[in-house]
Amino acid sequence: MSVTATRLLDNYVRGRWTPAADPTDVLDVTNPVTGGVLARVPLSGAGDLAAAVAAAREALPEWRAISTIGRARKLFELRERLVAREEELARSVTTEMGKTLADARAEVARMIEMVEAACAIPTTMQGHVLEDVSRNVDAETVRQPVGACAAIVPFNFPAMVPFWFLPFAIACGNTFVLKPSEQVPLTQQIAFEELDAIGLPPGVVNLVNGSREVVEGILDHPGIDAVSFVGSAPVARLVYERAAKAGKRVQALGGAKNHMVVMPDAVIDKTVDGIIGSAFGAAGQRCMAGSVVVTVGDAHEQLMPPLIDATRRLRVGDGIDEATDVGPVVSCAARDRIAAWIERGVSDGAKLALDGRGAGEAADPAGAFLGPTILDEVGPQAEIAREEVFGPVPCVIRAGSLDEAIEIVNGSRFGNGSSIFTESGASVRRYRHEVQVGMVGVNIGVAAPVAFFPFSGWKDSFLGDLHAHGTDAVEFYTRKKTVTSRFFSSGQGSGSYFVER
Ligand code: NAD
Repeated sequence: MSVTATRLLDNYVRGRWTPAADPTDVLDVTNPVTGGVLARVPLSGAGDLAAAVAAAREALPEWRAISTIGRARKLFELRERLVAREEELARSVTTEMGKTLADARAEVARMIEMVEAACAIPTTMQGHVLEDVSRNVDAETVRQPVGACAAIVPFNFPAMVPFWFLPFAIACGNTFVLKPSEQVPLTQQIAFEELDAIGLPPGVVNLVNGSREVVEGILDHPGIDAVSFVGSAPVARLVYERAAKAGKRVQALGGAKNHMVVMPDAVIDKTVDGIIGSAFGAAGQRCMAGSVVVTVGDAHEQLMPPLIDATRRLRVGDGIDEATDVGPVVSCAARDRIAAWIERGVSDGAKLALDGRGAGEAADPAGAFLGPTILDEVGPQAEIAREEVFGPVPCVIRAGSLDEAIEIVNGSRFGNGSSIFTESGASVRRYRHEVQVGMVGVNIGVAAPVAFFPFSGWKDSFLGDLHAHGTDAVEFYTRKKTVTSRFFSSGQGSGSYFVER
């Protein structure tokens, strides 16, 4: 399906591409490099969501009755189809979201890895059995699907984040409703073309474009059994509370402020590479973006000159150009919001070591460009050091010791990811043991776990219990049922279950 300037996106419901029946509005989807309109996305209404939920519920018995290996084989086929369109998916991510092609290719590779991990379902979904829990009595725990599941996702990973959930949910025998980000709905149109092509029973996967109204519909609809959310912290809390109140299983991944601690014994050139990739990749629009550098002791003097020098050399431009290091942010509104954060940081006392405002504008003044910026000498209590900026604007804070650095990291209300750069095993052991975050990197900037390990944070970065993907996904997308049984025809099963020991 080619993208034209006026294409109005369809939903995908009950195995068919379907126009939104009762949209409350229609928005332009734009290329952040030029502001040019790529397509138009409907903000679907309550009727559209209701149709998708009805389709998902009706598909449950047929989908669940397909053997586990049969469901896995569908995912094998999906994997092959996504690989065949890998470059097209990456280009779609870059075009609608702005991140560089290299970043987008890495995202799509991780998206496909999610499908690969979900193919292991005949093994990972197994329950367990224990014979003779009492005389001639056996107990077994089996895993069964939860039902109709939904995911609500953010703008910054148009390909990967929906696939943190979808492959695992359907592998476990659930059906699924996806609400993509209305800012970047195009890449999932490609993914759903391939889901359509593998011939799932109609209603197993559904896509409803929209915004707040669809989200609130999902949270309240009695036909939805489980909700996965990824987005900003305030919306994560709203989703968590409202879905839980409606009795649904819920996991809500929120915002972040990720610290990178640099010890005096760090290998500085590798540390600079790690910080640059982490702080400026996807123009800082990652929930695992390194947004605060904490230098310990004289690490500050060693780190700052090469960090500033290497950052200054990053090329800002259109992400589709292979020579670009940093693409635009997602929209001009985001650019202006981030620029206001820089102003606030400076007026709160930060030293502007590098100012990226104005970068890339020469290429196209309508583009949402804001180049790499570094705020040095930031106080740990400054607002810019504590709140999520979601742009290419790391702060640098000085700490006198590892103790002080850990105190700064643990003082954050967020707890998504954090990295330490050091050659000392003892420092790493301390840090890993004491730091209050869900994901830790050691000499690695963005330590986003691979598909077969769980992904998520602590504190305000995550509300719920079970994290995304890995074995947690199988836990989230299955209900456990424990059966205690005995049979009498063997002639051994007499007496009371409770007293026979
Ligand atoms: P967002 O919270 O604005 O939007 C996320 C989703 O919620 C979208 O689908 C949107 O349509 C919907 N939404 C927005 N406002 C809503 C409201 N008031 N009521 C109901 N639904 C609403 O987030 P975003 O700007 O798209 O994404 C960036 C945020 O996502 C950042 O805070 C980032 O840290 C976070 N994020 C977190 C993770 C993680 O794993 N913790 C991963 C990626 C992104």
